[in-house]
Order: sequence, then structure tokens, then C-alpha cells
Amino acid sequence: MHDCPTCGQPTPAGNYCVRCGAPQDLRLGRSRQRRQFAAAPRERRNAPWLVSTLFPQLPRHSERHFHIALAGGAALVIALGVLRLFAIALIGAALLMPLLTALYFYDVDIYEGEPSWASAWTLAWGTLAGVLVGMLANALAPSGSALIDKASTAHLVVGGVLLPLLGVGAALAGPLVLLRDRRFNETLDGASFGAVTAAAFAAAQAVVVGGGVLGSGLRAAGSAAPWVARLVTIAIASPVLSMTAVGSAGAALWLRYRAPVSDRRALGLLGVPAIAVGLAGALVVAGAVAETFTAAGTWLAWLIVLDLLGLVLLRRAVHVGLLEEASEADVGPPVRCANCGATGPSHTFCANCGVALKALPKVRRGGSPGLPAPARGSFAGRLEAELRGRRSGRRRLIAYGSSLTAVVAVGGAVAALAAPPPRRPRCTRAQQCGRPPIEPRPASGFLGYQSWHSPALGYSLRFAAGDWTIASDTSTEVVLQAPDGLGLLTVDAARGAAITPAALIGRQRSSLQGQLLGLVLDTNQADQLLGAGVGLAAGPGSVYTATIASPQGPEAPVSVAIMAAGEGNLTISAVVVAPAENLDQKGTVFARADDVINSIRWPGR
Ligand SMILES: [Zn+2]
Ligand SMILES: [Zn+2]
Repeated sequence: MHDCPTCGQPTPAGNYCVRCGAPQDLRLGRSRQRRQFAAAPRERRNAPWLVSTLFPQLPRHSERHFHIALAGGAALVIALGVLRLFAIALIGAALLMPLLTALYFYDVDIYEGEPSWASAWTLAWGTLAGVLVGMLANALAPSGSALIDKASTAHLVVGGVLLPLLGVGAALAGPLVLLRDRRFNETLDGASFGAVTAAAFAAAQAVVVGGGVLGSGLRAAGSAAPWVARLVTIAIASPVLSMTAVGSAGAALWLRYRAPVSDRRALGLLGVPAIAVGLAGALVVAGAVAETFTAAGTWLAWLIVLDLLGLVLLRRAVHVGLLEEASEADVGPPVRCANCGATGPSHTFCANCGVALKALPKVRRGGSPGLPAPARGSFAGRLEAELRGRRSGRRRLIAYGSSLTAVVAVGGAVAALAAPPPRRPRCTRAQQCGRPPIEPRPASGFLGYQSWHSPALGYSLRFAAGDWTIASDTSTEVVLQAPDGLGLLTVDAARGAAITPAALIGRQRSSLQGQLLGLVLDTNQADQLLGAGVGLAAGPGSVYTATIASPQGPEAPVSVAIMAAGEGNLTISAVVVAPAENLDQKGTVFARADDVINSIRWPGR
């Protein structure tokens, strides 16, 4: 026994002080200043490592398996995305982090000794809240002109700000119930409850919002690259942001209301509950709102930046939480450290590796025969196998791999069952059929019809008042939307020798690429346009598929037709957006749009 140079209290000889965790060869102002992370002394305190921050109670030798599981899960999701099996990939991506969390519970029995209902409660609450907020997101999903306008209120305000804030609040509300329970009195408990609830929430919300994609069959059409970026976002970037944000807020709440009085101000401003909760909301909103004005890849990069920030925040909270109460209790009997395997005195920190024993699994009373009565951090139970050389890690990986595979298989089966039957084209270019010739009708004066005239360019059109309403218009463009908000028709025009129909189509296509996820040419024979054109003038046209996506996730596939034609130096384009998964709805929208497009009258005709 000698006195620790940092805290001045007696500690047995070793690398680290068992009371304050400071290295014994250094004299620090406070042990909090040590550079080692209290839950993983081999890592720096401020280094944003994913696994040791999100799963701080994992003994470090288990960490490798979690890295493998995380990398393997991500690789599986990316592979499914590259194969364009989006529905299955979406399920796998949504459940990747929750499965890893469940594995963490299994591994660590984190709330063990305390009833496991606490972990069940956080998972169940997170799932329920995610389902409810997901259903709300579906009810408030963009419709009408907002379908292809990410700057609209439905995207920017509801999806980018309000729903994410509601999500943070809902994810924090579940753990708050446990704040009153004196058995969960450690800062680490608050961090874990918050992070776990957020993981379950994110997964449930992504699945509920993605219902339209899951219902569209095994192959939701779209281009692979933006989808892969989006899938990685759903699998890792987005849940990690929520987990770190809500986990930090939970840690701050626990530190303020559960930690010893002397430690309550240890996190400074970040430990003030109102500031911590506000910061959590700000982080999640900063992540979500960027989806509305960036491409999938840029958004992923931005989320990774926010993830690193969130990880540092959570890590600081966990670190401070583990250093709380430098106990004055006597040094206990020797235990084997679950982190390094060395036998040392039981107190607050391991004298050999410096890990906070609180960051190690609690061990069931009774323990295994032949070992002293287990204490927190002692090596017993399932984890004992690790040091005896048994490969329990393989079992862990098999458990994780098989549950992820099972999830993906169930997702595949559901998607296959929900898939619409293969379609065969009813008509071809050689043998056109099924569409009666539509006579050009006068632009006004027809009962039940309304007309619209472009004051700047002189062209006009008419539409059935029961089928369409004007969502917005300018002097050159009109946007019509179906009353149920599921269909959209935009007629736009431009004058100039350089503006060819093909150029105008290209302009429309690149504008849509920014608003929809994975816009790609639809090569299905059954979907092709039979003779495109605008207002009796023939011109080029193509059909595309894409997916409506919000910050909450990919929502539903849509079918997009773009066509254009020119006369004189005026070029008019038409863009039709219709739901892709319901063939009846899609057919109706396209037929009604056809009627309007055929009614377009060129100036001077
Ligand atoms: Zn000390
Ligand atoms: Zn140790």
C-alpha cells in the first residue's frame, strides 16, 4: 500500500490506482484528466470508437467479435443493395443495430441481478414508440406536389424537424420511467437505457415507414449506388446518431439526479439536463434535415461527421460516469479482472489494466463453483470461458449471423409474397391497342372541365375538375395534383432555339434525381410509353422508377413518365408521377394525365 499521486489515497502497488483509476506513475490534477477511456483503458478518452462507446460494458476481448459482426452485417446489407434486393436489404439494415444490441445484452447480461425487465422495457418501449412515430410519419407523408419537392413543408418541417424531435422525446420518455428506480443509479445505466431505446426506435420507424418498399416485392426498382448509401445510413449512420444523442441525454439525466452530489457537475454544461436534451434534439435534427437538400452519398458523409461528434459526447459522459464516487471503502478480496485476466484487489478500478470495474459485467450471485464470491468485474459466468481458451466468441458470431440471416430470409419471404405478379405488355409499338383516339377538345367551355393558359408562352390545356386540381402555377408552368394526392402532373415549357425536347427532358430528369431516391429508367416492357408526345405533337419520352424518401426512410416506389415535344421554338414537357405498387391507381393516374397532355394546345394553332 502506498498513496496514489493523484488522489492521495492509499492504493495497492500496480499500474493504476484502484480508487481513482489514474496511472500510478503520473501526478494528475484530477483523475478525470487521464487520457485512457475508463471503460477501455487501451483507447483514448476522446477517440470516437464505435463499439467501446456504444457498448461500454463489453470486456475488451469480446469487442473483436462485435467489430466482425458489425462489419459482416454491413457487408451483407451492401451486397443486397448492389444486387438491388432493396426490400430485403432494408429489413436487414433496419435490424442490424438492434440485433447487435440484443447480442450485447446476452453477452453482458447488462442489467443482470437486477431484473432483465429493464432491458426488455427499453427495447419494447423503443419499438412501440418507433412504430407509432412511423405511423404518424406515414400519415403525414408528402403527397401531391410535395411528392417531388423536398423543400416542401412535408419534407423540410415535418420530416426534417418535427418528427425527429418527437422521436428524441419519445425515445427519452421510456428510460425516464426507470430514473425513479434506485437500482439503476449509475450514469452508465442512463446512457445504456437511452442508447438501447434509440436503437429499437430507429429500427421500428424505418420498417414502418418502409412498408411501401417492402410491399413492392423482391426488386424495388431503382439504381444501386444511391440505395447502397441510403442502406448504410439506415443500418449504421442514422441509428448511431440517435443512440449517441439519446444516450448522452440519458447519461446527463442520470448524472444530475442519480450520481453522488459531488459528481453532479462533473460534465459541466453538457451535464445540465435541459442543455443535454436540447443538444440531443439538435444533433438528430441536424442529421435529419440535411436529407431534404443533399444527395444520398453526401447525406451519409454528413451523418458520419455528426456520428463522430455524438460518439465523443457519449464517451465523455460514460467516462465521467465511471469515475464518479472515488469510494473511500476498503480494498476488497482479490478478483480476476474480466478485462485483462489479471488477479487484483477488488475496488473501483483494476490495478493492472485500469478499467473501471463498473464497466464490466455484473456477475450473478453464487457465480461458478471454485471461485470466490463474485463481485462486479470479476471473471465468472459465461465470460469465464474466454480466458480458459474456450471459443465462446464463435458461438456469439453464429448467433448474430444466424439471426440476421433469419431476419433477411423472413424479409425476403414477405417481400416475395407481397410481390405483384409479373406483367406482360398488353400492347406493343407494332400493335397499339387499348387507348381510344382522343379528339382535341376546345380549351374551355366544356362542362366539368377547367382550363389553364400560360400567359408568358401562350400554350393552354384543360383538365377534368374532378380528376385534378391546380397545386401551383407560374407564367410558364402548371402543377396538377390528383385529389387523393397520389398522382402528379407537371407541364412546363421553355422558348429558345437551344432548348430541344431531349434537353428539356434531361433537365426534368436531373431535377427529379435530386428529389427522389434512385431514379432509373424503367426497362419493364409492360411500362413503356406507346408513342410519346405533347398535344398531338410527337416527341421523345421515357418511363422511370424511383422511390419517395424522407429523412425517416425510403417510403414508396413511384413510376415517373417524362415526355416533351417542340413546335416552332417552343418546347413543352410533361412529367407524370404515379404510385408504382398499385397498378390500378397507376393506370388511372396515367390515363387521366394522358387526357390532359393530349389537350395541350400550341400557341397559334
Ligand atoms: Zn488514486
Ligand atoms: Zn484488468
